[in-house]
Amino acid sequence: MSADIIPNTTPTGADVVIVGTGHAGAQAAIALRQQGFAGSILLVGRDRDLPYERPPLSKEYLTGAKSFERILIRPPAFWAERQIAFLPGTNVSRVDPVAHELGISGGRTLAYGTLIWAAGGDPRRLSCGGADLAGIHAMRDRADADRLLAELDAGARRAVVIGAGYIGLESAAVLVKAGCDVRVVEQQERVLARVAGADLSAFYQAEHEAQGVRFHMGAAVECIEGDGERVTGVRLADGTVLPADIVVVGIGIVPAVGPLIAAGAAGANGVDVDEFCRTSLPDVYAIGDCAAHANRYAGNAVIRLESVGNANDMASVAARAICGDPQGYDAVPWFWSNQYDLKLQTVGLALGHDATVLRGDPAARSFSVIYLRGGQVIALDCVNATRDYAQGRKLVEAGAVIAPELLMDTETPLKAML
Ligand code: FAD
Repeated sequence: MSADIIPNTTPTGADVVIVGTGHAGAQAAIALRQQGFAGSILLVGRDRDLPYERPPLSKEYLTGAKSFERILIRPPAFWAERQIAFLPGTNVSRVDPVAHELGISGGRTLAYGTLIWAAGGDPRRLSCGGADLAGIHAMRDRADADRLLAELDAGARRAVVIGAGYIGLESAAVLVKAGCDVRVVEQQERVLARVAGADLSAFYQAEHEAQGVRFHMGAAVECIEGDGERVTGVRLADGTVLPADIVVVGIGIVPAVGPLIAAGAAGANGVDVDEFCRTSLPDVYAIGDCAAHANRYAGNAVIRLESVGNANDMASVAARAICGDPQGYDAVPWFWSNQYDLKLQTVGLALGHDATVLRGDPAARSFSVIYLRGGQVIALDCVNATRDYAQGRKLVEAGAVIAPELLMDTETPLKAML
């Protein structure tokens, strides 16, 4: 953190206080200034670093391809030039919506005019025996990635990854390329089961296996074994013990909304927001991973999206509303994941699909899976198929109904089908 953007004296408040210095919080501050907001802005967060991108933590930062400086969301001077102040290394533990006041580390308080809650989520921890042993890693912030890198440097070679979602699989890809013996344990019967269809799952599992990753599917973790200090293995419910020097746990997040819910904000899985990202508390917005909202692309179901695109879009929606130019949130969800030389780009939500169309040949390692519900195109997973991703977005936005035979015809560009 650069000294000139940390106030010399501890601030007592700001016109807009933003809790969380991740993607959503940083983008909210940027968007407020872009909208012409002239009041004071204070970003408060547990992190000690300036805002940085999280996706590279399980990708280019973990491989060493990108330094920390290269994953900063903006260079240090940017924040000072725009008079955006930071209070790093600070936990917010209490929200008083009547007094418009926050309780922060050290028993201090901060006054806010408007509050933007952008606190993301905490990695879900294992609840079994041995979960606190050294060598067990989450993958959520820079410190997590640095701890894992330090153990690889110190010679750790046997890795068990628990959870075959995107973060687990990306970590597995980096670890096996770094020369580790990698096992992945997943309680579902297929990888990426929560987010993708069966064709994509089968393709990704096969790619990982071809690189040497071994999978234990439909497997429950009984406990983590250790020597009293460090992890030595992962015991599965069927009695199998997988030897391990390091364990990476990628089993999702718990939305960090405790203080808001305690203050009376509506919410169950995260905090509920309306189309302008307003919570049920006066002058309190919530954005990013922690914000539960009715999403058109999920058939108006109330969901949380954990993606950079959503964090940025919600930040802009909240900033506009605060600046008196409200425009409801209606962005098409998108996501990406890099594993080996495979670039996956997703647009839309496959949730509730009733049919899929395969476009292209997985054996050629460039193809798309198109998800349909009631005949409408609702999502695409595009593997090394950037053109399909860019053109398919329009089909998703339009909810286009297109014959499956046409969708699978790779001679016809998707944009010609609208
Ligand atoms: P965060 O970025 O998590 O920021 C929240 C901040 O709030 C944190 O700094 C936290 O310390 C702080 N905080 C929490 N509680 C408090 C409190 N009480 N007081 C003070 N501070 C608090 N998305 C994609 O679209 N593509 C990808 O490829 C991709 N890869 C990812 C890889 C990894 C390893 C991870 C972890 C995430 C990835 N994501 C990806 C998801 C994406 O990074 C998140 O959706 C995004 O960071 C959400 O932004 P956010 O601001 O809501 O939360």
